[in-house]
Amino acid sequence: MISDDDKFAAYVDHPRYGRGPRYTGLNPDCLAPDVSLHWNSTSHREIAQRFQALTGQTWRVADQWFHTTEVKRIPGTAVVADLTRQSRATVQVTHYFDLDRICRDCSRPFIFFADEQKYWYEELGFGLDSDCVRCVACRKPRQVIAQRLKQYNKLLNLPVRGIDENVELADCCLSLIESSVFTPKQLQRVRALIKRVSHETDSTTPGSYNDLLARVRVIEAAAQSNTRNGSQ
Ligand SMILES: [Zn+2]
Repeated sequence: MISDDDKFAAYVDHPRYGRGPRYTGLNPDCLAPDVSLHWNSTSHREIAQRFQALTGQTWRVADQWFHTTEVKRIPGTAVVADLTRQSRATVQVTHYFDLDRICRDCSRPFIFFADEQKYWYEELGFGLDSDCVRCVACRKPRQVIAQRLKQYNKLLNLPVRGIDENVELADCCLSLIESSVFTPKQLQRVRALIKRVSHETDSTTPGSYNDLLARVRVIEAAAQSNTRNGSQ
């Protein structure tokens, strides 16, 4: 028999929840009238069965539709939800299950943990319409980029910027070029910012100043090399 350690060895390790399922021994029947699972935890076939159980009518849809979702709830991992802490929705969720998933970006398997869902929907205030399609490792860089972009726009729109703010703006802009969100053309802005910083002070925080310059040179060298390769 394959142990969980072997079965989940290739799964992405979550720093908070681990790698393999977190068994609670709880396994509510998704068709029971007092049980309502998140749409991400229920297959179309189960939704249709539930509809039939509640209304006595058949949900008439194409057979094909039943194959469009494959939900992999891990049995025995359910966690009871606190409905008063969820954001309002037409259908509240009574239980969360560990879900077996494949990351949309890196294609590695990962678990969207029941405890993680509870944290999302009850502590962070995420709407019940949100779902998790990327592993924790792939979600992080996206979050960092989103934060950088937000900070960049905030700094850019300040009516007046001090030296520290200009250094931070240049830093944000460089990060966004390095992540390919911005094109290297945006280096113009970074150069202008660095120039302004160097004019405004005699003893600019040399560490960050030199660091910015070094990063500009790396991007310039990569851009030149691309141009050369492209023109051959
Ligand atoms: Zn991933």
